[in-house]
Amino acid sequence: MTARIIDGKAFADRLRAQIAGKVAELKTRHGITPGLAVVLVGDDPASSVYVRSKAKQTVEAGMASFEHRLAASAPEADLLALIAKLNADPAVNGILVQLPLPAQINSERVLEAISPEKDVDGFHVVNAGLLATGQEAIVPCTPLGCLMLLRDTLGDLSGLEAVVVGRSNIVGKPMAQLLLQQSCTVTIAHSKSRDLPGICRRADILVAAVGRPEMIKGDWIKPGAAVIDVGINRVPAPEKGPDKHKLVGDVDFASASAVAGAITPVPGGVGPMTIACLLANTLTATCRTNGLPEPSLLEEAA
Ligand code: NDP
Repeated sequence: MTARIIDGKAFADRLRAQIAGKVAELKTRHGITPGLAVVLVGDDPASSVYVRSKAKQTVEAGMASFEHRLAASAPEADLLALIAKLNADPAVNGILVQLPLPAQINSERVLEAISPEKDVDGFHVVNAGLLATGQEAIVPCTPLGCLMLLRDTLGDLSGLEAVVVGRSNIVGKPMAQLLLQQSCTVTIAHSKSRDLPGICRRADILVAAVGRPEMIKGDWIKPGAAVIDVGINRVPAPEKGPDKHKLVGDVDFASASAVAGAITPVPGGVGPMTIACLLANTLTATCRTNGLPEPSLLEEAA
């Protein structure tokens, strides 16, 4: 079998176009422009690239983008004061603090300081609790993107066996909650799980969010399964030349794509969905704050 490639880039392009249409409608009908504030502390090159890319896509969607940069040495109190200001600013509908933060700053305290209504990353305990109890939450962007790809690929997920490898608060746990909401039978595996290959082989849906390059092999995969590879790992690529690198996922794409029914590539799978879902969350937060009906992006972008 050769797996169908789940094209996350194409789906994300459609989703962003759809969001831009909804934003234009909000502006003309209600005079509202959604605003996303992104806060970067320090000058980590990878984080700077992410922040630039987020700002660019925010503006392309017709939203207002507010970028705030603090020095790497900034005290936690300065960041908390900025968040308090953004919480109170009616032009800001979403606040994202780029992680990781420098060592002198407590990330948990910072994330909890963001108003849950503006927490477009969905990392606040209030949003995690709402998601876990099946209430209206802001859902973390990466798992939300994975769910959209799965719904687009498989349609109804009800009754399917889903295995999520990884139990982080930002990917694994919310992914499992979303699959449970879709009436999957969900197993969460992690570094202490016994017989990981055997657990994975049960999965109709396998989501890998581990951070270990190409760990999941083709013979761990049930024939025909849908495989979502969240991992982004930078590894040496001597075939491209000395000191060259490439990105690979947590799944060994070559062997897995010979067994799976559908699979996301890395790059070009889950990655592009994450920023698109950040925009989707900003739009959702704007509609909720203004008491407007929420766009049904999941169905329409499919
Ligand atoms: P974390 O490091 O927070 O979590 C990794 C999880 O994998 C942990 O639960 C850990 O288990 C588990 N794990 C580690 N080693 C093994 C192993 N050998 N067998 C089974 N489980 C294992 O990572 P994140 O969740 O933040 O990210 C996971 C991956 O996804 C990374 O590659 C990251 O770069 C990528 N990512 C991609 C995004 C995107 O936009 N595409 C967004 C976010 C992340 P335990 O809890 O027991 O330690």
